[in-house]
Amino acid sequence: MVKVSAGHGIEIDLDGIRIGLDDHDGNGVDYVFVSHAHGDHLRKVSRNLPAICSEETAMLAAAKGVDLKIASLPGIELFPSGHILGSMALRVGHSLLYTGDVCDRSRGPIRGFDPPKVETIIIESTFGFEEFRFPKLEDVLGVAKDCIDDCFRKDIPVVVMGYALGKAQQLEFLLDEFRPSYVHPLLAKYDDIYRLFGIGIREKVNVDEACRMKLLEKKPWIIFAPCRSGRSSFNLYFKKRFGARFMAFSGWACDKRYKDAMGVDEAFPLSDHCDFDGLLRTVKRSRAKRVFTTHGFSRELAEHLRKIGYDAQPLVRDQRTLHRYLRED
Ligand SMILES: [Zn+2]
Repeated sequence: MVKVSAGHGIEIDLDGIRIGLDDHDGNGVDYVFVSHAHGDHLRKVSRNLPAICSEETAMLAAAKGVDLKIASLPGIELFPSGHILGSMALRVGHSLLYTGDVCDRSRGPIRGFDPPKVETIIIESTFGFEEFRFPKLEDVLGVAKDCIDDCFRKDIPVVVMGYALGKAQQLEFLLDEFRPSYVHPLLAKYDDIYRLFGIGIREKVNVDEACRMKLLEKKPWIIFAPCRSGRSSFNLYFKKRFGARFMAFSGWACDKRYKDAMGVDEAFPLSDHCDFDGLLRTVKRSRAKRVFTTHGFSRELAEHLRKIGYDAQPLVRDQRTLHRYLRED
């Protein structure tokens, strides 16, 4: 019998063994599952309990100062979820699939999620709202590359920004043709781990070093940096000192207000999550009959799924108990 509840976080009870899913504080569970190493999945996670996660996630978490003791359990399988290096979905027998953060589109070195068949799926819903439909990767990249080319022709340097872990490495891989390129130190430590697992991200001089060696005096260049507001001190320095243009990459760029809110020159809709259609595709391909949605637009996605015939409901994390029990085949 598999039981799902949402008290201290989402929990699965597998024949008496309790597993806390993502950012679980460990209260009352025997194991924690860490789907991937993004901060919002690690913030509260118990460091004392055995952690079901990939080796990549354990290394990336260690780089953030979170030590995870890797464990495995019979009846539990992990499937690459296509979000970032090492991100995994968890399947319990053939009955339940928890996606964690998920993306069904292949992007550069990361392959899109291929969901296994299950009875019930717990799916993230960060972009589970109809307005979030991402253009094709090639189209986004084509426009972004034209934009950088245009800057380079005018000797204008460019700062490319994305989440420090995952998005930034994608961008470094996909925009490798623009040189010379430099990397923010925060990204460099994750780049090293990506390389360790065979992802060909070229080594670069770090920005601090490039400043010291006065390499940035010779324009144009490209810097890969974490996603920060155009008004942050790091960005203002490069804007004032070198006249750099700032380009941000995020799924939120689908919302026209994102560019101004971030204070950047350009914003491109590139995400490591499924868009609305991708979430529907993932549910359909999993052949699940029951759906729980979590994070982001969980209510909206569940409502849409109900309209098209699924037994779907949002899984609210602060909910004390869930009256629904899930039975294994
Ligand atoms: Zn994530």
